[in-house]
Amino acid sequence: MLIVMQHSATADEIKRVVETIEELGYQARPMPGKQRTAVGLVGNDGKVDSSRLAALPGVLEVIHVTQPYKQVSREWKPESTVIKLPGGLTIGGDDVVVMAGPCSVEGESQIVAAARAVRDAGAVILRGGAFKPRTSPYSFQGLGKKGLEMLAKAREETGLLIVTEALDAPGVDLVERWGDIIQIGARNMQNYALLKRAGRARKPVLLKRGIAATITELLLAAEYILAEGNQQVILCERGVRGFDPATRFLFDLTAVPLVHKLSHLPIIADPSHGTGLRDKVTPMARAAVAAGADGLIVEVHPTPDRALSDGAQSLTPEQFAELMKQCRIIAEAIGRRVAEPAEVS
Ligand code: PEP
Ligand code: MN
Repeated sequence: MLIVMQHSATADEIKRVVETIEELGYQARPMPGKQRTAVGLVGNDGKVDSSRLAALPGVLEVIHVTQPYKQVSREWKPESTVIKLPGGLTIGGDDVVVMAGPCSVEGESQIVAAARAVRDAGAVILRGGAFKPRTSPYSFQGLGKKGLEMLAKAREETGLLIVTEALDAPGVDLVERWGDIIQIGARNMQNYALLKRAGRARKPVLLKRGIAATITELLLAAEYILAEGNQQVILCERGVRGFDPATRFLFDLTAVPLVHKLSHLPIIADPSHGTGLRDKVTPMARAAVAAGADGLIVEVHPTPDRALSDGAQSLTPEQFAELMKQCRIIAEAIGRRVAEPAEVS
């Protein structure tokens, strides 16, 4: 439920609404807006006496949020959320932000070479997993904390920000310290304890869609993070399980306009996991930008044939540079711009 204040409402009137919500046994989230302040009522169990709130001085109207997700919905917050990152980078505004790098951090020289290559092609955020969620327990599991240190080294060398996955709560502690964006992977989209921990983190969270998750489930997973107080969530379409083994997953780009309609949160797209096939990544990256994605996350490896994970879907640096060129043209055609790396001296 949202209590929308009149344009002329005073600070005391807003305070009175907050206190009344708390007296009723719920949490209040005041949200100052450009035109007017709204106060969100969190934890509505269907027993809220809205007439008591509607009658308070300074209240314009009480809105019942119809979606099962509340704080994530556009009903709750009509203006798009723009995530602000260090160095002035934003996600969810006009810029299309490209994150790129290998699936896994494999060693310092590999991640630094990948970082240089993707930066030279125009990426602004380096991806690379130090904690890897692998289907088989016998596959490469990632370098753990050492991998995070290597990512930090690559950031130092290139100025790129870091997005990297956390698999559990102790992993969030580490990624919060070493990274810039905490990735929650597809397999953990419904790991509610992990979502709650990410909701208490002070860094933005990249939440990937589960491999068989509906859009409602994705948005409810994001709600867990917002409900804990972290409003900085970036969603990611990365393909869902289809019936056809011709591609690794079924890249569902409808998710982009759907999420933009239902939620104020930004959504990016992952054409690498979405297709699983190197030669399908660039066409689907173009399609994602055309569909209105707020960014891309792309797997790029200096030597994909020797990658320890996801080599078959990883681009070479040359292929990635071409992807960037093409995506810049598409972004411009729809009135956007691919974010450019800042000059590093
Ligand atoms: C990844 O980004 O390397 C990854 C494991 O992605 P997902 O969680 O989408 O499978
Ligand atoms: Mn991968």
